[in-house]
Amino acid sequence: MSGQHPSIKEGWFTELSDEHFPGQGFSLQVEQVLHHSRSEFQDVLVFKSTNFGNVLVLDGIIQCAERDEFAYQEMISHVPLFAHGNPKNVLVIGGGDGGVIREVVKHDCVEKVTLVEIDKTVIDLSQQFLPSMACALNHPKVHINLCDGFQFLRDVALAAIDERYDVIITDSSDPEGPAEAFFQKEYFELLKAALNPGGIVIAQASENFWLNIDYLQGLMNIAHSVFQKANYCYTTVPTYTSGQLGLIICSDDSRLDLTRPQRHPSQQEQDILKYYNPEIHHASFILPTWADRLINGRNDGI
Ligand code: SAM
Repeated sequence: MSGQHPSIKEGWFTELSDEHFPGQGFSLQVEQVLHHSRSEFQDVLVFKSTNFGNVLVLDGIIQCAERDEFAYQEMISHVPLFAHGNPKNVLVIGGGDGGVIREVVKHDCVEKVTLVEIDKTVIDLSQQFLPSMACALNHPKVHINLCDGFQFLRDVALAAIDERYDVIITDSSDPEGPAEAFFQKEYFELLKAALNPGGIVIAQASENFWLNIDYLQGLMNIAHSVFQKANYCYTTVPTYTSGQLGLIICSDDSRLDLTRPQRHPSQQEQDILKYYNPEIHHASFILPTWADRLINGRNDGI
């Protein structure tokens, strides 16, 4: 089903949010609307843009665009995976477009990846319109669960699911809508309970230091109250409002330095990466002075 979308006017899609970024908007020129529907969980739009390839939008917020998606997928995947010495069992919450899965299976040491996506519509549309992202969803290491990620983690905590993970990646949409619970303390506690010793979690923070630094401070306070270690890093993505997105990475192993890779990509692995490298891993944790003071509560660098 296709149709016009309320965020598209005179051939331009505009992302607006009075609550999160009042007084500004981010626009992309639309070549063609490929799909618009209301799934059981959210408003789903896919359009072909004039300069950024196909774009997936959920509840009016851009999730990924073909031209720059690798900047997000690589950083949210490879920062925790290379910070871990030997990740074997990986859980991805959300991520129905498949971009993170594509990155996780690049690690030969990973034996199993579980994807927990609430909305099958996102998976189906990504396979149709974002094939370069969805390309690994049928990989033999990948197991797909169509359910609520919060409930899935509750089942892990109650041992109804008898598994623990080395790395958990929360590749969710923003707090308004089905992903709301992912930005609260109970979720961080469930993540901690689902980790193997030495395990690492990372979550997209939904904000960046230009848009809403107070919100990031609050999220970091939650992360610090649950985990021994919590760090903020970021990636640059032109199609996210303000051009960047924060990531929060945590572990209960106080010996781990999450800001440095424990393993370095082999030459073969590095050759197929476009954004991540060991230097940018560390650099992504270094913040401008004012942001470092507010987010990390200090002014002494990393
Ligand atoms: N790269 C994106 C970003 O940061 O904007 C996230 C991409 S991915 C498309 C987000 C996915 O999280 C969506 O497919 C959405 O359906 C899924 N999601 C939202 N709430 C969820 C929940 N409670 N359980 C599992 N998946 C959820």
